This record gives sequence, structure tokens and C-alpha cells, in this order.
Amino acid sequence: MAANIIDGKAFAATVREKVAGHVARLKADNDITPGLAVVLVGEDPASQVYVRSKGKQTVEVGMNSFEHKLDSGTSEADLLALIDTLNNDPAVHGILVQLPLPKHLNEDLVINSIAPSKDVDGFHISNVGLLGTGQKSMVPCTPLGCLMMLRDYHGSLSGMNAVVIGRSNIVGKPMAQLLLGDSCTVTIAHSRTKDLPEVVGRADIVIAAVGRPEMVPGEWIKEGATVIDVGINRIDAPEKGEGKTRLVGDVDFASAAGRAGAITPVPGGVGPMTIACLLANTVTAACRANGLEEPEGLTA
Ligand code: NDP
Repeated sequence: MAANIIDGKAFAATVREKVAGHVARLKADNDITPGLAVVLVGEDPASQVYVRSKGKQTVEVGMNSFEHKLDSGTSEADLLALIDTLNNDPAVHGILVQLPLPKHLNEDLVINSIAPSKDVDGFHISNVGLLGTGQKSMVPCTPLGCLMMLRDYHGSLSGMNAVVIGRSNIVGKPMAQLLLGDSCTVTIAHSRTKDLPEVVGRADIVIAAVGRPEMVPGEWIKEGATVIDVGINRIDAPEKGEGKTRLVGDVDFASAAGRAGAITPVPGGVGPMTIACLLANTVTAACRANGLEEPEGLTA
């Protein structure tokens, strides 16, 4: 039986609509316009594309976008001084420092200098600790997007067996914490995991966050499982012409779609949800900063 396709692009549009509605209410009722500051250091082309896209979508939902583009040679002291200014600016509710940073800058130090309440990426050590102890936190955007799609598809996730492949700080670990928070039985797999096919074969929910093109074949997937493919990998596509490329996930979509009950495509699955959740986190941060009720369905 062919799997249901979980349409992340459409879902992200509904999240953005909810955010825009909440922003409009905040403006009308409380005279508050949520603001997101994005800091980019250097000229990395992929980062420039992400930052442009984030700024555009921020403005589209009615929020203020503050872009800070710094020279690749910017000193750590200057970057920390900018973050300090943003931390103390009441018009800024969310701060995002685009990663990766140039090598001479200490990423941990920089991220941990952001005020935790404005850390809309959810990477600050305080937010990591709050999430790990089941307390209210800012939740990393990509895992939050995956959780929203799973809740929307299944309703309750309680008691389901979930396998997260990948243990990075930005995807795998927070994803596992969120699934645990929703009462899944969670296994985290990684490069040293023994018999990965057997581990994956037990899962009702498979989250693939590895960064290896089409690594998970359909034959590993339990019949009817839900597959969330976080991977974004660019591979050669000679069938499209010389020098052409295409995006694929960490899961072999064609074979997995024949066994899964539901699956996210790449592109058009998890990817669009990430920026939508960044906007959701910014509006949540603005509400918290002003002691207002948080928007329903936009947090973990
Ligand atoms: P990392 O490289 O930080 O982590 C990859 C993880 O995969 C590691 O924990 C690694 O294990 C594990 N791994 C590597 N090889 C294997 C293997 N053969 N078997 C099992 N596990 C393996 O990646 P990220 O978490 O940052 O990203 C993962 C993917 O998600 C990438 O494709 C990235 O582009 C994509 N991504 C997509 C986003 C989106 O918006 N959709 C956002 C963020 C990431 P070990 O720890 O043992 O080395």
C-alpha cells in the first residue's frame, strides 16, 4: 500500500498563517510587534540564502526583521557586543546567529551569550537543560517542526516506539527529548549502533537525521510506520542534464513509500517547517517577554 505523504510545505503554510494571526492580534490588542534579529558573519553562500529567506518570511507574517551582516573578519568581542545590544533591545524578541560561524569565533561562547528568553534557535545551554528536564523552553526549530507534523498526523504519540537516527545537538538529541516528552519509547541510533536495520525495523516512528543520501532503504522500515526524513543531501542528477543536481533525504523515498504508513518527502517535508517554527518561536518569545498567553499549537 502506498504511504500517505505528509506535506510539510502545506503544513508550514498553516503554521505561518497561525503566526500571522497571532502577530496581528498582538499589534491590535497590545501594541507589540514581534521582532527577529538575524546575525550573519561572513559570506557563506548557503547561509546568505537562509538568512534572506528568514528575513522575507518574518516580514510576510507581519513581524519586524532586523538583519545584521558582519564582515567575515569580525572579532569575537565585536560580535558579543552586538549580541549584548540585541539582548537589551526591547524591540527584539528573538535572536538567531546563523551557523556555522567562521573558524576564529567560538560558537558555544557566542550562542551562550544570547539571552535564553530570546534564543529562538533553542541552542543555548539553558534551553537545552530546560528541554531535558521537561520544563518550558525555546525548542530547536527542526525537531519542533517534526513533532508538530507527528502530532497532527497521529494525535497522541503515547506508547509508540520511536527511533531517531542521529545524535546531533541541533536535531537528534532534542528530537529524542521531545518524543520522550510525548511519552514515546525512544531509541537514539548513531554511527556506532549495531544492527541498525533491526533497530529501525522495531520503530513505529522513524526520524532520519544523518546527512547520508538515501541511506535508509524501504526494507528496513516496519510496515505502516511513520517516517520523518530530516536529511537534506544534494546529489548528482545526470538524468536532468550534465552537471545537474537534485535534493534527496536520508531515506530512499521510493522504496520506503511502499512500506511506510506515512512519510515526509524531500524536498517539501521537514525543510519548510524549520523556518515556520522559527517564526512560531519568535511570536512565543514575544508573548513570554510581555507576560501574555502563548499561542496555542505553536510550542512543544
Ligand atoms: P550531524 O552531522 O551533526 O549528525 C549526523 C548524525 O548521524 C551523527 O550523530 C552521526 O553519528 C550519525 N550517523 C552518521 N553516519 C551514520 C550511520 N552510518 N549510521 C547511523 N548514524 C550515522 O548532522 P545534523 O544532525 O546537523 O543533520 C542531519 C541531516 O539533517 C543533514 O542532512 C542536514 O542537512 C539535515 N538538516 C536538515 C534541516 C532541515 O531544516 N530540514 C535542519 C538541520 C539539519 P555519530 O554521532 O556517531 O557520528
